Amino acid sequence: MALRLLTCWMLLGVLFGAPALCAPVVADPHGLQPIEDMAKMPGVTTTVTWEDCGEPNAYYHNGKAVLCNELVTAGVPDFVIQFYLAHELAHGIIDQLDIPITGNEEFAADELAMLMLHMTGRDHVLVAAARFYGKRGRPEAPHDEHPGDLRRSFNAFSFMQKPCSYPPKFNEVCSDAYKRASRNWARLIIPHVEKHGGF
Ligand SMILES: [Zn+2]
Repeated sequence: MALRLLTCWMLLGVLFGAPALCAPVVADPHGLQPIEDMAKMPGVTTTVTWEDCGEPNAYYHNGKAVLCNELVTAGVPDFVIQFYLAHELAHGIIDQLDIPITGNEEFAADELAMLMLHMTGRDHVLVAAARFYGKRGRPEAPHDEHPGDLRRSFNAFSFMQKPCSYPPKFNEVCSDAYKRASRNWARLIIPHVEKHGGF
């Protein structure tokens, strides 16, 4: 069992890491192409577009990840825009591979996005997102499926496998988040990738 899980982690590393190494050099002012490449996998074709939305936000719908132009005009840092995109691409993976999600898909998309970012050495994006959400501090609302900003900030710190900036009693939560997510997402994703022809 342990060997199988180890293999899964290694395969996930190949899955998320290899496309980035092969990415062509293109004009990319916000550094988004590597994030797109990070989330590419067999059976998933999500297109990324910029649109006017009326608010600095992003969303995924029907195979399309939309980044709102207002993210730029509002001065949202590039690393945070990269986190937004990783989250929407995670929705694309969940949708197009028909990954079974119990509970809230917004939490699941966040977790998959954070996992991909951490596994591809992008903790700086997680730090930027954690600081952005921690500073904004928008409260969780019962009618909104999205995690509240402080929870998002805490979760992003949780993936960096080091004591997070919270009281020591939370450190175990921080160190366990990555291990649990990598094990469970490997189980969920790898069968779909193999079904679409493997790596
Ligand atoms: Zn979402």
